[in-house]
Amino acid sequence: MTTLNETHDPALASWVESANGGASDFPIQNLPFGIFRRRGSQEAWRGGVAIGDQILDLAAAHGVGVFSADAARAAAACGEASLNTFMEMGPAAWSGMRLALSRALRRGSALADKLRGCLVPQAQAEYAVPAKIGDYTDFYTSIYHATTVGKLYRPDSPLLPNYKWVPIGYHGRGSSIGVSGQQFARPRGQIMRAGAAAPVLAPCERMDYELEVAVFIGFGNELGQPVAIDEAESRVFGLALFNDWSARDFQSWEYQPLGPFLAKNFASTVSPWIVTLEALAPYRMAWTRPAGDPQPLPYLDSGATRQSGAIDIQLEVLLQTQRMRDSGQAPTRLSLGNFSDSYWTVSQMVAHHTVNGCNLQPGDMFGSGTQSGPRPEQAGSLLELSLNGKQAFTLPNGEQRTFLQDGDAVVMRGWCSKPGAARIGFGECAGTVLPAIG
Ligand code: CA
Repeated sequence: MTTLNETHDPALASWVESANGGASDFPIQNLPFGIFRRRGSQEAWRGGVAIGDQILDLAAAHGVGVFSADAARAAAACGEASLNTFMEMGPAAWSGMRLALSRALRRGSALADKLRGCLVPQAQAEYAVPAKIGDYTDFYTSIYHATTVGKLYRPDSPLLPNYKWVPIGYHGRGSSIGVSGQQFARPRGQIMRAGAAAPVLAPCERMDYELEVAVFIGFGNELGQPVAIDEAESRVFGLALFNDWSARDFQSWEYQPLGPFLAKNFASTVSPWIVTLEALAPYRMAWTRPAGDPQPLPYLDSGATRQSGAIDIQLEVLLQTQRMRDSGQAPTRLSLGNFSDSYWTVSQMVAHHTVNGCNLQPGDMFGSGTQSGPRPEQAGSLLELSLNGKQAFTLPNGEQRTFLQDGDAVVMRGWCSKPGAARIGFGECAGTVLPAIG
């Protein structure tokens, strides 16, 4: 879905005035999908599209009969309590819905009067995880993250020999994925302290975040039927921001030989809006392999992947401590990186995941793995920024951190911006660590 069309025209403006002017994450060129209701209400959860500081309620829009034929069927599906039915309809339906929404929300649209009553201010909304996530797989696609972490855990062999051949991943757990605003108690687990003869059960002492991009599968594949790389993107509904909270002390004790387990499955946070691959079309970039690195096996390689497999998404992490919140200080930036630094593309993740016949299903989610850039200040986790707790950093108010303390809120933001295209954003993925229970 890398073709530009009328929905990407940077000159388009909306009759929802807050969408115009370049300041909003959600101009008319974006049109991301989410699940919402009015905050504190018992209303049914339903699908909506972010436009400026408003949400177009798709159940209500379907109800006033503004969409016809295919778009009406898509809008009806969007009115459900998760996006899975709409996701399963496939790229022609997603694209048709986007075009219908773009035309309906444009300045001068004859539908404006009917749709004005279908807007809900984002300030009055609460969100749900946008899809019923059946299976969640976490990849490890940043070679910079893999190398730095490898050095900390295994100084003599930081990057294992399979890394440049295999898009490494593990099967995670979907049940504890929450939406932005998630709060969770610091988990308990086994910690093997340095020099100790036996582990203890204790609250995590090395609580970390991981800056990731979420990949939502739209429609899947039959068991036993791999998805070829050139078809892979047609299976992807869109992307969101993802925080894979990580208990580093549990992780370093438990991860061998089978990989992460309780270090990861106590909570993970996803942003409420899924930005479609079609919306990201202006921000595609060539994907390359550094000279001297092995070229991917043929099932992970294609002309389209080489030409436009990477996506230019700025990824920012901010921290707001309890003390900052109490004194009204805004979150402070910890890092700024870019998804285009990923070693593996979205299409390679899908092709690899299914090459053995594994079936993906609507609403399945991939984490990209922590996105870190080549420079140390582009690291997407505290494990890297603090060198596994060895090097504290100082916040603007004088507080120091190596890992997260109780009350710390981590905020992730993502956006795409370049000359000749409308700036689009992902909104926020925020979450807060609370004290351990008991
Ligand atoms: Ca991860």
